[in-house]
Amino acid sequence: MVPMPFAPLHLDTPLLQTAPGYSASGKPLWLKLDALQPSGSFKLRGVGRLCQHEVENGAREIFCASGGNAGIAAAYAGRALGVPVTIVVPDTTAADVRQTIAATGANVLVHGSVFDEANAHAVELARSRKATYVHPFDHPLLWDGHATLIDEVVAKGAKFDCVVTSVGGGGLLAGIVEGLKRNGLSDVPVIAVETEGAASLHASLKANERITLPAITSIANSLGARQVAQHVFDLPQQHPIESVVVSDADAVAACLKFADAQRILVEPACGAALAVADVHAGLLQRFDNPLIEVCGGIGVSLEKLRAWKEKFL
Ligand SMILES: *Cc1c(COP(=O)(O)O)cnc(C)c1O
Repeated sequence: MVPMPFAPLHLDTPLLQTAPGYSASGKPLWLKLDALQPSGSFKLRGVGRLCQHEVENGAREIFCASGGNAGIAAAYAGRALGVPVTIVVPDTTAADVRQTIAATGANVLVHGSVFDEANAHAVELARSRKATYVHPFDHPLLWDGHATLIDEVVAKGAKFDCVVTSVGGGGLLAGIVEGLKRNGLSDVPVIAVETEGAASLHASLKANERITLPAITSIANSLGARQVAQHVFDLPQQHPIESVVVSDADAVAACLKFADAQRILVEPACGAALAVADVHAGLLQRFDNPLIEVCGGIGVSLEKLRAWKEKFL
């Protein structure tokens, strides 16, 4: 009997277009609403793709290191595929995030005080148990999965002439570039957005070498990779990419504006991409129909938004 291939775990998310007056850019913005994925962020696209591939090839267990959305996505994928999942988190991961991961059905293991230590432990556990290890941003199948967001926009027939996305370790950026390439859109530029204090890609492009930030000081912790993947650092040689930086305050303001306008909460990591249309309006004015990847994230609540508003605005 030939086993049935699994259907993708992620949803084909809605695509909205704002009125031109929505942002200082004066351009109508396509919003790709990945905040509506069942795991709360785009991460399920790539993590789901990778986990399915591994389970189809015999994996019986999944390990992932993450303090956030990659862990939730792996927990969701494991439950959907019927395999046990363990998420290794550093002891700095907040209790509510640990609870959300556990509530999604995964074991939560605390190891180390920074991501790198938790990650090394997850890699070692997966190796010794012949299980699947899921990296949060550095794997070709993750990029292949993330690329489906571009496939969906193209399939809907939407015309867009740039893509705005936030960047942490750069898995999402790599997926978007892959999606543009496989849809014959290699000339469509990508605007890669980071926050001050988490801008590892920006620093690397400026220095012309892959920089490791000494620390992450932005509240956008989903963008808090101290170093981008090597593949991501190399991407600007293959594809037009413009790197921009916004402040935490800009990101928070964009989250609040988006919440009021669309009635959806997103993390500052996602607010960073939304902020560009107001903060770097001149940049978007070079295009007619920008597409913004609304990447989402579970690290937000009314309570958190209120506290950030008080602190930054
Ligand atoms: C992971 C994540 C990012 C950054 O993605 P990378 O692939 O690490 O660049 C941005 N926003 C949210 C909400 C995320 O979960």
